[in-house]
Amino acid sequence: MNKVPFYDLRELHAATGTQEEIDAAVLRVARSGVYLLGPELDSFEGAFAEYCENSHCVATGSGLAALELALTAMGVGPGDEVIVPAHTFVATWLAVSATGARPVPVEPGDDSFLLDTDRLEAVVTPRTRAVVPVHLYGHPVDLDAVDRFAGRHGLAVVEDAAQAHGARYRGRRVGSGHAVAFSFYPGKNLGSLGDGGAVVTGDADLAERLRLLRNYGAREKYVHEVKGTNSRLDEMRAAVLAVKLPRLDGWNERRRAVAGRYTEAFAGLPGLRTPDVAPWAEHVWHQYVLRTPHRAAMRDRLAGAGVDTLLHYPVANHLAPAYAGQGVEPDGGLPRTERLAGEVLSLPIGPHLPDESVELVVDAVRAAALDLAAAAV
Ligand SMILES: *Cc1c(COP(=O)(O)O)cnc(C)c1O
Repeated sequence: MNKVPFYDLRELHAATGTQEEIDAAVLRVARSGVYLLGPELDSFEGAFAEYCENSHCVATGSGLAALELALTAMGVGPGDEVIVPAHTFVATWLAVSATGARPVPVEPGDDSFLLDTDRLEAVVTPRTRAVVPVHLYGHPVDLDAVDRFAGRHGLAVVEDAAQAHGARYRGRRVGSGHAVAFSFYPGKNLGSLGDGGAVVTGDADLAERLRLLRNYGAREKYVHEVKGTNSRLDEMRAAVLAVKLPRLDGWNERRRAVAGRYTEAFAGLPGLRTPDVAPWAEHVWHQYVLRTPHRAAMRDRLAGAGVDTLLHYPVANHLAPAYAGQGVEPDGGLPRTERLAGEVLSLPIGPHLPDESVELVVDAVRAAALDLAAAAV
């Protein structure tokens, strides 16, 4: 039987002719004798800043570290509150917690996965220091609304773009803002052969502080200006990213075509909601996420048809053991977030997914939705 794996990195590199160039880059670095803070990193940082239509890129050891260091470099620390979406990958929250600040969750909009910018005012307190909008699944947040809000209250904005490399908001690249954190985890739209991340910024002073923080607080060996950490993108991973970056726009284009096919094919199916795209958004479809109240049954049927699915994310952060019982959520809880956690269902999507696989997914989802609706009558 044909199978559709959720995301197959070997296939991505092989099917797009990228593997040979990756191999050559890895070998070049292996034989270079320079493994950290060298020419491959400089070159990739320059290329990625330019791709993001911004002036500085400071690469880090992971996306989580990029978020944490950006918040720290902007003065967030113990005693502060940082507004985050309730519905996001836990790393957004962990980055805030790592600075010593407290994450303050905001529910998603009515028919959206993204933080509801109309709910931001309600959670501001004198301790609020920053807001972290997350371009979840590759769909940009309404950044003008976030900036107006942050401007009114004098808050820092650190964007979490770990899932949104290449997306555009009103024509502007996600990454062109003041402080934007990315992840290069292998499964992201732009991923390396291991962990990696970056902060992209237009602020030269912020970039300088980040360069200190990622390298033991030192510009020069043994001159430790601040209490920094060790979080650097190594030469091998930087070289691999430089190979993949020129392909990113084409890969995102293919993701958009697959998403378009899914949305068209699933229109009007009972018990299913397809993801919306705002008119001002250029979505890069890191995930294609359906909502269905019959998720478990749907997942079983898709698995039976050879279609792998994943859940982004099955447990709301405020209910995870790491945060449960600590009073993070407001009185009245976070009902929309909890409901989403029970309904989200991610389908295979990727630049390398051939049309046959896309049609296999389409047929399996249609059959399952119709079948489940008939059984419910
Ligand atoms: C992947 C991800 C991160 C963390 O990135 P890592 O490189 O895995 O540390 C942060 N936020 C979001 C939304 C992510 O998807």
